[in-house]
Amino acid sequence: MKRRSFVHSLSLAGLFPSFSTQQFKTIQPQESIKNDPIALCTWNFTEANAFAGKALEEGKDALTASILAAQIEEENSENSTVGYGGAPDRNGQVTLDACVMDHRGNCGAVLAVENVVHVAALARDVMEKTPHVMLSGKGAEDFARKLNYPIQPLLTDTAKSNWEQWKKEAHYQPIINIENHDTIGVLCRDKEGNISGACSTSGLAYKMKGRIGDSPIIGSGLFIDNTVGGAVATGMGEEVVKTVGSFLIVELMRQGMTPQQACEEAIKRILEKQNAKPNFQVAYLALDKAGNIGACAIHDGFSYMQHREGKNQNIPVNAL
Ligand code: ASP
Repeated sequence: MKRRSFVHSLSLAGLFPSFSTQQFKTIQPQESIKNDPIALCTWNFTEANAFAGKALEEGKDALTASILAAQIEEENSENSTVGYGGAPDRNGQVTLDACVMDHRGNCGAVLAVENVVHVAALARDVMEKTPHVMLSGKGAEDFARKLNYPIQPLLTDTAKSNWEQWKKEAHYQPIINIENHDTIGVLCRDKEGNISGACSTSGLAYKMKGRIGDSPIIGSGLFIDNTVGGAVATGMGEEVVKTVGSFLIVELMRQGMTPQQACEEAIKRILEKQNAKPNFQVAYLALDKAGNIGACAIHDGFSYMQHREGKNQNIPVNAL
């Protein structure tokens, strides 16, 4: 089955069931909040964000819409930092990381997965079909096989030849540059006013085998608290993990900061540990319960997509 039709068949076949509301206390949005659906994602993933926005307008829940957006990039071979076509590790193997979190505080993650394209959906399956939060490596791949996910190589010819070129020039030195990050982090608010999110990446290009960044770590690459809002991160994962960036932003919003103030404060927490402006990029995107949006980055060049009231637009973010 082609990857794209796999995405559509997943959504159509109802393989993203909504949760039973009996099991959990549903948080009711405040009356003052207008629940227009909102889809946001990191970078300029236009098609992915439009897909999520339309899914929300059709009444899909925020988690399903978030995963649908991630899936568009996971199957996009042109994107060298997510899914199929992602840059490999320094041994030439593509390993993917993803996590999801829903409006009830449930979450799932997969780390260092090989041969499976749709790792955000797999993270959801970990959340919904196992008693666990995280599965890694071979265990995650075996779980995907059991659920009949398509199993296929992730390394494209282009990614392979870029890696071979990198080996000649980089002598296996770690890569730290400003624009080598394009993780997709998605935040959605559905018609019910519920916020959920997803994050999917192939991680840092030519990373050490086994290296995990922030993207599949709940609280770092993604955090949702449906009473407050949500946040996602992209960029140098090690720095996001050290400051538990997405959790920090949501907690700052809980204490009264706007999403913009909270994103700026989270970037400041990274910068205050540096002697000079660092040569790595970190960027955050946040959404609060009332639909306010914030974003901040260490360097210029970051942008995000916003789908709201039928309009899908790319919004550039100024560096702090
Ligand atoms: N945050 C990702 C990581 O460190 C990289 C990225 O944003 O592209 O693995």
